[in-house]
Amino acid sequence: MSDGNSNFRTFRDYRWDGVSLLKYKDEGAAPFKEVTRQTLFSRPDLAGELRYFEVAPGGYSTLERHQHTHAILILRGRGQGLVGAEVRRIGEHDLITVPPMTWHQFRAARDAPLGFLCMVDATRDRPQLPTPEDLNELRAKPAVAKFLDGDGPGAA
Ligand code: MN
Repeated sequence: MSDGNSNFRTFRDYRWDGVSLLKYKDEGAAPFKEVTRQTLFSRPDLAGELRYFEVAPGGYSTLERHQHTHAILILRGRGQGLVGAEVRRIGEHDLITVPPMTWHQFRAARDAPLGFLCMVDATRDRPQLPTPEDLNELRAKPAVAKFLDGDGPGAA
């Protein structure tokens, strides 16, 4: 157990000593399903933050874009990811870069969670949500439309 002063925090069951399990976002702030957040590193002497998100089976993160970049490492489970117009199956230890102003969303498989580390700038802009026009544009690509409907590679 952590004594509150230690620089070591033990891992167990995808929780870390002294790290709170938080809501991903406020309910109703944006569409998402079954996502939790843990902030692993956030310190005034670091320009970045490292968070751990976990999407429960069948859940998904918000479809969004923003100026800041995400550097992601899948730590647990599998699912599928959308970055820009590319949809891919994703699994443990895969790396994903989300460049600035690029639409992205992550979906857990129906029978597995999807847990990932996400590195971001400590100071960052707020995510933008797609307009109906943005969604039409995204849906023009069949693989993306399938993904957005919760179907696609790795969905089963
Ligand atoms: Mn994002």
